[in-house]
Amino acid sequence: MNQGLHPTAEPINKLIQELNKLPGIGPKSAQRLAYYLLRAPEEQARLLADAILSVKQEITLCSQCFNVTDSDPCRICRNEQRDQSKICIVEQPQDILALEHTRIYQGLYHVLHGAISPTEGVGANDIRIRELMERLKDSSVEEVILATNTNLEGEQTAMYLNKLISPLDIMVTRLAQGLPFGTELEYADDVTLTRAIEGRQEF
Ligand SMILES: [Zn+2]
Repeated sequence: MNQGLHPTAEPINKLIQELNKLPGIGPKSAQRLAYYLLRAPEEQARLLADAILSVKQEITLCSQCFNVTDSDPCRICRNEQRDQSKICIVEQPQDILALEHTRIYQGLYHVLHGAISPTEGVGANDIRIRELMERLKDSSVEEVILATNTNLEGEQTAMYLNKLISPLDIMVTRLAQGLPFGTELEYADDVTLTRAIEGRQEF
């Protein structure tokens, strides 16, 4: 592009371009955000930039549950008040946020970081299943709650895990009741999610 003819200053273009790469941010929103930041106090822009950088620099994965954390093990794994006999399996760290928000579940978690999807080339070895099985091997876990999404990938993953885990003499339950097919956990409302946890059924 001929820089001299472009109507907008290069730093603004660059910011618009970067914002446009974010999920859910189209070109119009990117433009609006860029001009908003341009007008905002420098302090606000600095806080935002710092927050983005510290997420990248300070956040790691918990070595036990693979939740995102700034200390290892994470706050949930470290908390001795939590019920160590239950592990709830979720696809993404943000699913933990949704479940914790209901305050009904007091056990531990395990984040798979994805779901099995043959169409997208994601196999069992591409998500944290091996780590889960390792964790279950010598633990006092009595119940595993499969809280993967209720879409095709989530169901496939739940079935696969059920096959692996049920021979271990651990009860496997599936959080499904009240969640319509196709639901992504992070978008489910508190009432539905609470009902889904309370009404979980043996898989
Ligand atoms: Zn953890």
